[in-house]
Amino acid sequence: MNRDRYQTVLLFGAPGAGKGTQGKILAQVPGFFHMSTGEMFRNIDISSEIGKVFRSYMTRGELVPDDVVIKLWSQTIHAYTILRLYKPEQDILVLDGLPRSVPQARMMHKYIDVLKVVHLACDNKEEMIKRLAKRALREGRPDDAKEDVIRRRWDVYEKETFPVLATYPKSTIVDVNAVGSPAVILAKILEALAPLQDRHFQNPLGA
Ligand code: AMP
Repeated sequence: MNRDRYQTVLLFGAPGAGKGTQGKILAQVPGFFHMSTGEMFRNIDISSEIGKVFRSYMTRGELVPDDVVIKLWSQTIHAYTILRLYKPEQDILVLDGLPRSVPQARMMHKYIDVLKVVHLACDNKEEMIKRLAKRALREGRPDDAKEDVIRRRWDVYEKETFPVLATYPKSTIVDVNAVGSPAVILAKILEALAPLQDRHFQNPLGA
């Protein structure tokens, strides 16, 4: 086991597959620390210069450049570690939305030891696009407000993000059908992830 790198699970899937929903639920389970790069970018002050640059990528449905993502992510996770919000010796890191390109996967290798990749799979693209449009109304998300931007996000997923899956050993990938009730999907995810806590951390709660 490699203790120099963060013990990590990836939540992987197309826009609208439910990575954020499941990630937020997992974050409530002791021993998992959820981090979403989309949230990280949305939380940056949009009146700042850098905030405006991030916002422009997001509103076009495009990826923020790889080196910028990795730099900001590594600084953020380091800060969470120092603040003891994330405890690498106890918590499994659940990454939602990272890596999103093959170069990102390569750059992340020195930071993370990928124990499992949960692939929230869906073959009904139109159903997912409808889900995103509804969410945009509910949450006021600029990146999903227009149908052409949603479609652009999908194109980017298919071209740049989907190939990331093939860079991980098949034995680490768990396919979960993303269409269904959140509770059923959660049960399947937990079935795959719960054994990791025992295997990788003798005493996940530090009790
Ligand atoms: P999400 O909330 O994960 O759907 O991300 C929203 C937007 O944030 C994406 O469409 C990208 O513009 C940006 N983003 C999030 N994660 C990444 C990443 N790993 N690489 C590049 N851009 C990202």
